[in-house]
Amino acid sequence: MSTSDVIIIGGGITGLSLARELARRAVTVTVLEHAHPGREASWASAGMLAPQGELSEGPFLALCLASNRLYPDFRAAVEEETGIRCYHREAGTLALAVTEADEAEFRHTYDRQRADGLAVEWISGEDARQYEPALSARVRGGMFLPDDTHVENRLLVPALEQSCRQLGVQIVCGAHVIRVLSDGARATGVDTILGRYDAGTVVNAAGCWSATIGVPDEALRPPVFPVRGQMLAISLPAPTFLSRVVRSPRSYLVPRHDGRLFLGATMEEVGFDKRNTVWGINKLLTGAQELFPDLQRCAIQEMWAGLRPGSADHYPVLGATALPGYLLVTGVFRNGLLLAPVLAKTMADLVTAGQTPALIAPFSLARFAGEGVVAGKIPGA
Ligand SMILES: Cc1cc2nc3c(=O)[nH]c(=O)nc-3n(C[C@H](O)[C@H](O)[C@H](O)COP(=O)(O)OP(=O)(O)OC[C@H]3O[C@@H](n4cnc5c(N)ncnc54)[C@H](O)[C@@H]3O)c2cc1C
Repeated sequence: MSTSDVIIIGGGITGLSLARELARRAVTVTVLEHAHPGREASWASAGMLAPQGELSEGPFLALCLASNRLYPDFRAAVEEETGIRCYHREAGTLALAVTEADEAEFRHTYDRQRADGLAVEWISGEDARQYEPALSARVRGGMFLPDDTHVENRLLVPALEQSCRQLGVQIVCGAHVIRVLSDGARATGVDTILGRYDAGTVVNAAGCWSATIGVPDEALRPPVFPVRGQMLAISLPAPTFLSRVVRSPRSYLVPRHDGRLFLGATMEEVGFDKRNTVWGINKLLTGAQELFPDLQRCAIQEMWAGLRPGSADHYPVLGATALPGYLLVTGVFRNGLLLAPVLAKTMADLVTAGQTPALIAPFSLARFAGEGVVAGKIPGA
């Protein structure tokens, strides 16, 4: 048996960021990780920090924007603590229309984002080709989003793990959590395949596996499930081929610091299956070539798939539950990289002060208790 103030189930970016923030506040933390930290969705991710390109609205957009504002300091602090450079790319993002329907969708988003006072510029197809000369002549125009950026997630997540260890967080690999324990009044710890761990607070940050962890009452199980994303890495035809993230409604292309280009991503509800498929890879290649026809001769370097933690209404499941001492930080779906700093801060505030910060209040598990959870309907809106 091992005791700490807080147990965090899951060592992805969500769990590690929260562990680091709590440790900075002198809270003792144990991260229990089924396998190795940061090797699931947080590794598979494209690393886009895209509050605007994801076309979010309402309280969720507010949460994403708050996290984006925290990112420069968050990333710089982790780099400083660890000496690991995470290559934050700050050249903005192009969200581009190829079809009339794409244009209508982006015009609508552009008008809304302008009305909200966000940084967004409408550009013509010619303007877009000034930014990125290799773009197809079929691109009709779209949005330039200067504040949507990118971070190297395959460096940031190991850096977070190292930062946690430096701060004294105990990270236990191979500690598959079976169930949350309670004394009838509050959470007291967890049972794992390595034995029992006790803590005053247990936080479920187990990504798309969050609902597989046993709970004293079924109503405590979050409606979270895997949504597969297939990805592909190709070599850039030339180092200057692409300088920023480019996306359309069907695909995105993310230039990486090592000269590779990530193409993403599919959205598939196929259970806990991380295989690539012919359909998926074909879809990624077709979507990318629609924007950049000259990719045809590029070498394919790697393909993989990861499992996003999706939820019944597509929004995160955050904060306290009906069991005192049992908290959730899951369901971060397509935005877990972006949301890491704000969730670390607000969840640490909740753990240390006992109050739910307003930013995360709309996303509690309690919203699923009543009738009428609708996919894509914004909580609180
Ligand atoms: C292809 C793809 C592209 C993406 N692109 C972006 C992007 O550009 N920008 C963005 O913001 N987001 C993106 N995402 C989403 C983002 O990657 C996820 O939202 C985020 O990584 C989720 O992090 P997590 O820590 O919650 O989950 P994970 O990284 O999956 O970590 C969960 C951890 O919990 C552990 N675990 C599970 N069960 C147990 C158990 N019983 N006991 C102990 N440990 C357990 C797992 O082993 C795992 O390490 C993308 C996702 C995918 C798949």
